Amino acid sequence: MTDTSFADLGVTEPLQRALQAENYTSPTPIQAQAIPHLLAGKDLLGVAQTGTGKTAAFTLPILQQLAANRGERAGRGAARALILAPTRELAIQIGDAIRTYGRHLNLRHTVVVGGVGQQPQVRALSRGVDILVATPGRLLDLVNQGHVRLKSASILVLDEADRMLDMGFIRDVRKIITALPRDRQSLLFSATMPADVARLANEILRDPIRIEVSPKTITVDKVEQHVYFVDAVSKRALLIDLLRDPALARVIVFTRTKHGANKVSEHVGKAGITTEALHGNKSQGARQQALARFRAGKARVLVATDIAARGIDVDGITHVINFELPNEPESYVHRIGRTARAGAAGIALSFCDSSERSHLRGIERLTKRPLGVAGDRRTHKEGPHTPQADRKATGKKTPRNRRQFRNGRPRRAA
Ligand code: AMP
Repeated sequence: MTDTSFADLGVTEPLQRALQAENYTSPTPIQAQAIPHLLAGKDLLGVAQTGTGKTAAFTLPILQQLAANRGERAGRGAARALILAPTRELAIQIGDAIRTYGRHLNLRHTVVVGGVGQQPQVRALSRGVDILVATPGRLLDLVNQGHVRLKSASILVLDEADRMLDMGFIRDVRKIITALPRDRQSLLFSATMPADVARLANEILRDPIRIEVSPKTITVDKVEQHVYFVDAVSKRALLIDLLRDPALARVIVFTRTKHGANKVSEHVGKAGITTEALHGNKSQGARQQALARFRAGKARVLVATDIAARGIDVDGITHVINFELPNEPESYVHRIGRTARAGAAGIALSFCDSSERSHLRGIERLTKRPLGVAGDRRTHKEGPHTPQADRKATGKKTPRNRRQFRNGRPRRAA
């Protein structure tokens, strides 16, 4: 995060309001560096990974510019801005970001991806859109069938260009670019800059600003990370067990769903631990209040969903607990980045049941290091897990309140 505000960067009020609702208190470094140049119409070469806030860095200026030139409404079958992304998931995510940030602007956008029927996409395009987000293959199909005209698209974004080329989209991308006007603003983002990406950047960008931000994984190194292999049904008991240790002084627990956040928070509350839930079903006021209580130390535990936790900037978080593992590895990096802020050390504990093994693998692939296995395998082992099964396996009664921690650090697996 940076010291500047979105207003300092020239972001207009309707966008600021949407960002406040998302709890984005200040711009990320790539946003602070890119937004003023993009609002001034410059081309941009961004070397940045996902997790840096790059989506908002390009989406906000696009929304703002298109809203300012409302007179230039897109004609039938036309788009005013085009964002190309390599995968369906990323395209959908960008579409969601546009909806979120642009909610007070009344601009039209649509997402065009393969693997689904094209008819609804053709219908959406026929009315004309302000922003078109697309994967290259399907877009080229629709261009060739005459359903989209790109001659009036004045802004082009290529997101994750290196992945786009890895996936063999280079020819499609080149063809699409020839359908765009020469006079346009172009942005290219890529996590890496191999020669073929640099060549493409050279071809499509004019005198670009170059911005490079270091990947978020650097923060990850400061966080001590452990995983507990545990059955889904034993997670609540494990959580309460861990929270018995006062060293877990200020804890964020992440759940996958809003409903899950409520349930877990209730359970923690029943164990006599002060807690608040934070999720998108709560009003803005209720969210602010929950956060304020957590920040002030009146609630020791905050149970949150990924979306609600975006932008939470609370100092002194001692532990992040992933009650459920996120299916997007980048979300894991975000979650654990809530601890170990401002040079402090932090601890992240993840609960992994048998259905989450693939998520764990994805996370370890992204962070490039295996998580330390914590806990007592006997009490929290995977697979069918009942006190009876435990007794059978170990010949001992499962100690119910066995301490999982010593000095705030998990015991190593036996
Ligand atoms: P991206 O790198 O675009 O995938 O963004 C990574 C995550 O950061 C997303 O979950 C965004 O919602 C979130 N995000 C982007 N900008 C900010 C900001 N200024 N403050 C807090 N969260 C942000």
